[in-house]
Parts: sequence; C-alpha cells; structure tokens
Amino acid sequence: MRYWAYALGLGALAGVLLGLRFGLAVGLGAGAGIALAAWLVLSRRTRRRARLSRAPFPPAWRATLEEWVGYYRALEPADRRRFEDEVRWFVDEHVITGPRGAEIDDALKVLVAASAVVLIFGRPGFRYPKLRDIVIYDEAFDETYRGEGNILGMVHGQGPILFSARALRQGFRGDGDGHNVGYHEFAHVLDFDRGRADGVPGFMPWAAVAPWLSVVHAETARAAKGRSILRRYAAKNEAEFFAVATEVFFERPEKLRAEHPELYALLRDAYGQDPAR
Ligand SMILES: [Zn+2]
Repeated sequence: MRYWAYALGLGALAGVLLGLRFGLAVGLGAGAGIALAAWLVLSRRTRRRARLSRAPFPPAWRATLEEWVGYYRALEPADRRRFEDEVRWFVDEHVITGPRGAEIDDALKVLVAASAVVLIFGRPGFRYPKLRDIVIYDEAFDETYRGEGNILGMVHGQGPILFSARALRQGFRGDGDGHNVGYHEFAHVLDFDRGRADGVPGFMPWAAVAPWLSVVHAETARAAKGRSILRRYAAKNEAEFFAVATEVFFERPEKLRAEHPELYALLRDAYGQDPAR
C-alpha cells in the first residue's frame, strides 16, 4: 500500500503552494496537516480491515464454513485464515439483509460472503468492482419480488444482488453437483465490471479472450443439445455461459478438467486458481 506516498505528495504540493503565498511556517504546517488528513482518508479501509483481522474469527461463523463450504474445508490452515479474513471483510463492507431491510441470520451472511470469496480467492487484493447491497428472500421469488416464483438469484448492471436463501443453502449442500447460485450470481457481478455482462470478465487475460470466445461458441452448441458437462442454460447467451461454467469449475473441477481441459485451463488462468489440484 502506497497511501503514505500519495498523502506525502499531496501534502508537499499543498505545502509548497501555501508556503510560496503565506511563508514557510504556514506552508510546513498546512502541508503536514493535509498529508495526515489524506493518509487517514486513503488508508481507512485498510486500517479497518487490519483491526477486524486482529479480533478472533467468530466461532459460529467458522462452524458455518466448516459445515457448508467444501471449498473452505479443503484449504490448508494458513489459507483458511486468509479465507476467514476475506469473509469478514466482505460481511463488514456490504449491506446484507432480508426483504425491506429485515435482519437475517449470520449463517446466511457467511454463505453469501463465502460465495463471493471463492471466486476471487486466487487473486489476493482483488476487490469486487462495485459495492452492492445483497437481499435474501426465504424462497424462490418472481419478477415482482413479492410472490413466489422460480428465480433463485438475480443481478442486474445496477442495484442489489438477490438470492433465495433456500437456493443458496442448496448450492452448498449439493457440493459437487455443478449447481451453486452463489457462484453463479457473483460470476455475473464480476462480468458486469465494464457496465455490461458479455461473458468476458475484465480480469480475463487479454490473450485469452479469443480462445475463450471460440470455446464458448463451440461448447454452447453442445450445451444446447444437452451434450455438454455444462447444463443447457449455459447456451442462453455468453453471460450465462460464463456463470454456469464458473459453477462447474468450482463444484466439479476434476470432471471439467478431464472432459474439457481447454475450457478448464482458460477458467483456471482467469480465476488464478486450480481447484482440481
Ligand atoms: Zn445467470
């Protein structure tokens, strides 16, 4: 983190300008004050995260991760600590509620955060492109968000991320079945990084984009016929392809690698992690 360097630079610039106008003492004093204020503002999140990390991780949250999140269970102890930090930072920095701001269980917050953290765990320091509120309904919902419907999760270019609590739990309960609505929706969030979801997230290496698109188009044709490891929904468009492929990449990595090594390798490089290993 180079916050202090930015802050010092800003302070020095302001100090010189004010010093030329009002004299050395004023310049030094104002420059130091501005540098300190800039550092406090710029480093606020980093300092808050460090403070959170010093507190013990809540045992109930750890129990939730151990019970529900196979990805977490498979991690080495040091990586578990890093995963826990990412989870508590995510919960701290996002508003996660039930409909109309209702309180929800910490266990659900932890599952939402775990979904998000799994996808970025291979890229330490990466942050989700935009802070969004997260709203969790008990059951599947419909387009009006009132009645019961068949929508398990949803995200648009703007606005909150929506989940059904039941589907979220089912995604982790059925570890290995290739369905995880948490991974699915956060893949869309990553894909929306440049304003629209086109199935090519911004963190995909530039050189990988053309091979990725050619795999997408070939595999879409197979998925549409039900002959792919990816379910048919992947064939809907490029954005759904990326979201469904993400679910399978994290839930059935060995099978994906065996059946489609090229698709696996492209996702491995994009996500910076190798879950089949
Ligand atoms: Zn989708």
